Amino acid sequence: MIDRDEVIELFSDEDIVDIMKQLGADKKRGNNDNEIIFTSICHHSSSFKLYYYKDSKTFMCYSSCGCMSLFDVVIGALDLQNNSEGFKEAFKYVCEFKNISIMGQRKKGFKINEREDKDLDFLKLHRTITREKSIKLLPSYNDKILKIFDNYFPVEWEEDGIDKRVGERFEIKIYFSQMQAIIPHRDIRGELIGIRCRNFKNSLVENGLKYVPIEIEGLTYKYPISFNLYGIYQNKENIKRTKKAIIAESEKSTLISDTFFGKENNTTLATCSMNFTKYQRDLLLSLGVVDLIIAYDKQYELDKLDYYENIPLKSLTIEQKMERKKKINEFNNYIKKLIKIFNLVNGYMNMYVISCWDDRLDYKDSPFDKGKEIFNELYSERLLVESVQQLEEELIK
Ligand SMILES: [Zn+2]
Repeated sequence: MIDRDEVIELFSDEDIVDIMKQLGADKKRGNNDNEIIFTSICHHSSSFKLYYYKDSKTFMCYSSCGCMSLFDVVIGALDLQNNSEGFKEAFKYVCEFKNISIMGQRKKGFKINEREDKDLDFLKLHRTITREKSIKLLPSYNDKILKIFDNYFPVEWEEDGIDKRVGERFEIKIYFSQMQAIIPHRDIRGELIGIRCRNFKNSLVENGLKYVPIEIEGLTYKYPISFNLYGIYQNKENIKRTKKAIIAESEKSTLISDTFFGKENNTTLATCSMNFTKYQRDLLLSLGVVDLIIAYDKQYELDKLDYYENIPLKSLTIEQKMERKKKINEFNNYIKKLIKIFNLVNGYMNMYVISCWDDRLDYKDSPFDKGKEIFNELYSERLLVESVQQLEEELIK
């Protein structure tokens, strides 16, 4: 299996120049040895605003797109969809460029053809040196941008029980004109690497734009979220001390955790999606994490699964059959995400899972959403994953 980090790792600076040329970019020398400047093919402009940083292997478009991975640049240059389908196409394009073959069916994951790929030896080496490898850092934005927002804490979050002081610690602000709660993202050093927001405009929330990067005067403050963990700057000392990290999905869980346990005890970080990457594992390893606790949202409805399990397929309506299939896929996806994480961290740290098989949490709730008492109960019931089979057995055939 080869993942996005490993593919990026295989790209030398010369390869980057070549693939950018193939995509139609012109290049010029950077202001220092660490950068190469390209024309902004990410948004089809001929101005030299797209910088490639050799040390972090990331791109920064200073006119509109913000911080990007190679895959994001390919998505922009080829006008692919900005979703998982588009990502898959970009991934394929990038792999084909480097002659990395993607074999087998997609659901079985990406595989490398060992005989054909001369880069494989390097890959094996890379796998064994991961632990000592220093963490690469992303380019950052100027902190001054934060001054344009209003220093208020969203009433909605206060009503959800998040302490205002937590809002200060995490620099939560409000952008009144856009009805957005502003969430600055800092990397492990404290550099501002992106700004996301929680939209409160119903029209945006309904279109799946609840949490997105913000855009100001045409510049998007986005970054590849798989290259950070939200809260790592604020919580790193707590994590170093306890050797423990809780991984949640949304930024809000990190804030609620701070309210529950105080700033000296908050070890909750957010992936801002259900994806956990090798880069994120390495970040945690650099802090000495021994116990990793996965506290993802309740993306499954067991009562519906039970209901359908007890009814013969024949007697279901078409709508019910579709719902049954959807619910099974949803549950299996959740388990598959856990399997992927286990495969990444196995041998490096212990992995625990916080889940809720009853109705203490509602559908799509985070384990932090029903108060401290419920969280503590679920935490004390956490499962230590001892083998991949243990998770695979949960998959519904
Ligand atoms: Zn751009």
